Amino acid sequence: MELYDGIITRTREFLSQRPFQRWDYDPSQAWEDAGQSELVLGRDSAYELGGNGTFAVHYTCVTAAPSLVDRDEILLYGPDLTELRKDTPYARLSFLNIADPGGDDETAYRAIREIEFVKYHVFPRGFMLRISSTDQREQVRLSREAIRKDISFKTVGFDFIKKHRENPLVKHVQMLFITDTSVDYRTLERNAKTTADITGTLTHIMEGIALNCSSCSLKPVCDEVEGMRELHLRRN
Ligand code: SF4
Repeated sequence: MELYDGIITRTREFLSQRPFQRWDYDPSQAWEDAGQSELVLGRDSAYELGGNGTFAVHYTCVTAAPSLVDRDEILLYGPDLTELRKDTPYARLSFLNIADPGGDDETAYRAIREIEFVKYHVFPRGFMLRISSTDQREQVRLSREAIRKDISFKTVGFDFIKKHRENPLVKHVQMLFITDTSVDYRTLERNAKTTADITGTLTHIMEGIALNCSSCSLKPVCDEVEGMRELHLRRN
């Protein structure tokens, strides 16, 4: 379960010199969840996070190391939702500390996928997520009504954490929201791609790909990510 640790550490280092706001998780303040996907029409929209061709990055990393994620919290780098006036670049990063699911690697893999899929089951009212699994984009359309009701990254983040915490394996969740226009989002995009590559490689290994590193197209991932090759050896 250390496969994503490098991405978490790298992201922390990348953001380490930047100012941020932080809030401890308080489920009683979570933004209302609509319970199902809802449409925010263009005419009711205030703006879009990641709209108009701006960056819209998302990645989720799980770790078994308690020291990497030791509390439930929200971190915000940049203006909050009610301070934004127009389409803006955006990133949402989720880091989760999870308990050992027990069983074999297959069990761990299933647990990781299940945790990742939670993003498709969070529906903050007036915060319409449009997630692309092919290029790791997560665009969000904000309704005027939600802005009027004072929606914030804090309360939306609490909704995400609440959903994640329904899974008994999840011990802590740290959510980072980034809207600071001076951030190099390309670096975050690269991290998102590496995260997707790790999960993709994991899927291939679990599906029974033969162990032959010299002819394997996934070699760059295994060269970079500690633990991947050992996993395939075990699986074999
Ligand atoms: S361990 Fe080797 S064969 Fe397995 S996925 Fe990585 S590069 Fe491919």
